[in-house]
Amino acid sequence: MEEQMMQSEKMTVAGQLAASVAHEIRNPLTSLKGFLQLLQAGIQKEEEYYKIMLEEIEKMESVTSELLFVSKPMTDERTSESLKEMLEDVITLMNTQAKMQSITIRTEIPTGIFIFCDRSQIKQVFINIIKNAIEAMQEGGLLEIKVSRTENRAYIDIIDEGPGISDDLVKKIAEPFFTTKKNGTGLGLMISNQILDKHNGYMEIHPNAEIGTTFRLVLPAE
Ligand code: ADP
Ligand code: MG
Repeated sequence: MEEQMMQSEKMTVAGQLAASVAHEIRNPLTSLKGFLQLLQAGIQKEEEYYKIMLEEIEKMESVTSELLFVSKPMTDERTSESLKEMLEDVITLMNTQAKMQSITIRTEIPTGIFIFCDRSQIKQVFINIIKNAIEAMQEGGLLEIKVSRTENRAYIDIIDEGPGISDDLVKKIAEPFFTTKKNGTGLGLMISNQILDKHNGYMEIHPNAEIGTTFRLVLPAE
């Protein structure tokens, strides 16, 4: 029964995704067609048109490459992995962007917390959430990453000083293609939820007392 329900839920998500993809690709295509027609008609402003056309193509490019990640029959290779090691790898990767935006990353990650997981998938989740936090902190500030555990759960808290997320938006942000960013794909949270789900984990979104948002990732700990 439970499996049946999960199956039909997946179908809905797949159907929903297909419709959104068609939409996401059709809009830039329509715009490209329009600009090509203008160019064909010998209308001036070529430079400007090429710039917009390139932007539309880049948008389709990023949507399709993120989708390939979702549709790829994900190899599911589970190994015992240190949270500290995985997070430090990811933070090294994100540090340049953080510094450019005057963001300090502070970590509190004890050694010895291990989760049984597909390493590259879980790192992808960390990348998606930390990237969002950095992108939210346009004014710079402090980004904290704290890890803790209970007997059988690990908690990864990503605490930003961004503008926060309003109650209406919290319900929408994980929908495929929902984005408030000029060049966003709106796929990061959806992919993260899928990966967490496969690992029997989940995420919680909490407003901070003063400023910003905490994304809490919960996963079974070894
Ligand atoms: P994208 O980053 O491409 O927009 P995501 O699925 O990663 O797609 O995020 C969807 C939306 O959720 C973002 O566009 C943003 O509006 C909102 N969001 C995500 N993380 C945060 C955050 N830490 N602070 C504020 N808003 C956020
Ligand atoms: Mg994102």
